[in-house]
Amino acid sequence: MNYHVDERGFYGEFGGAFIPEMLHGNIEKLRNQYLLHMEDPSFKDEFDALMKDYVGRPSPLYFAPRLSDKYGAKIYLKREDLNHTGAHKINNTIGQILLAKRLGKTRIIAETGAGQHGVATATVCALMGLRCIVYMGSVDIQRQAPNVARMRMLGAEVRPAESGSKTLKDATNEAIRDWINNPVETHYIIGSVVGPHPYPDMVARFQSVISEEMKWQLQHQEGRDYPDYIMACVGGGSNAAGAIYHYLDDDRVQIVLTEAAGKGIDTGESAATSVLGSKGIIHGSKTLLMQTDDGQIIEPYSISAGLDYPGIGPMHAHLIHTKRAIVQYATDDEAIKAAFELSRIEGIIPALETAHSFASLEKMKFNKEDVVVINLSGRGDKDLATYIEYLNDFSQS
Ligand SMILES: *Cc1c(COP(=O)(O)O)cnc(C)c1O
Repeated sequence: MNYHVDERGFYGEFGGAFIPEMLHGNIEKLRNQYLLHMEDPSFKDEFDALMKDYVGRPSPLYFAPRLSDKYGAKIYLKREDLNHTGAHKINNTIGQILLAKRLGKTRIIAETGAGQHGVATATVCALMGLRCIVYMGSVDIQRQAPNVARMRMLGAEVRPAESGSKTLKDATNEAIRDWINNPVETHYIIGSVVGPHPYPDMVARFQSVISEEMKWQLQHQEGRDYPDYIMACVGGGSNAAGAIYHYLDDDRVQIVLTEAAGKGIDTGESAATSVLGSKGIIHGSKTLLMQTDDGQIIEPYSISAGLDYPGIGPMHAHLIHTKRAIVQYATDDEAIKAAFELSRIEGIIPALETAHSFASLEKMKFNKEDVVVINLSGRGDKDLATYIEYLNDFSQS
């Protein structure tokens, strides 16, 4: 079974590039050039240097003793929360901004939901001195004021998307429209392993630094370079893709993806794409998505804005379809509980997205000697307003 992208841009039956005629030139150019640039030693040197000195990599692989005790396995945390800007997203935006420069682009656009990808994009545009426009649903602009302020402080222009539900998918539509109108000087930095080929593969490769480091870190700490389990949360799937990339063909490693079940899978307020979704095309790729019988996208729901996406990347659709990956689901309440548990038990406040993955721990059956790596995709500072609402439920006195 092949779990990597094929020459046509497909993972099994998922993926491809279903795009309007007007974007064909841009996508073709990207498809023809991304690997040439990424494999160029001078590109790699520049990427590696920024990863080290700007992002702060390698991120530690931390053995979590109290969590291990509680769940009866050897649990390690891959600390993407310690990266500059607080999550894994910067790995991808650094890669894409270097690529944009090599393609001669001077103007960057991006879509954002919670604002995390917008902040990571605004950051690298400031770093490189490129113009940055971030599309964001006007509802999200209201809900995510601190990240909007960060983007503006970093010099980006935040443009509201006023169509549809005024959230992430509408912002994505606006960004695509912008790209169609400005094809020559503009590069579109997509924030996850979604969109038309080559985006899913390109983003997965930039994020694969996570599993590249895991290999030598595990070798050093465990005497073998692979774990028994890798666990990660999935919105579009980029942090998970990075954490599993170098283990896709290693069947000693079980992959456990956690999706957001919102208020519960059957409540109508959920983002559990892999059970509620069906095959269709969203934002340029064939994948699993939540849609009505006549193909209208169903609005997803999760307490965590980063998991609140109606689709899933084509790579993950394929991994789930072929049963290479196991899927778990965590509700809002389970994620909140897990976030408080990790804070109290290891002194680490995780992002709400990441907390979903920790909520899956109690649903797993481990052996004591199993080596488990959880990808700690981001830190919880941005979610403090949500956590504060639950503080009384979990406080000691
Ligand atoms: C954006 C985000 C996610 C979800 O996106 P993926 O592409 O699925 O990784 C998960 N965790 C954090 C901290 C995020 O910011």
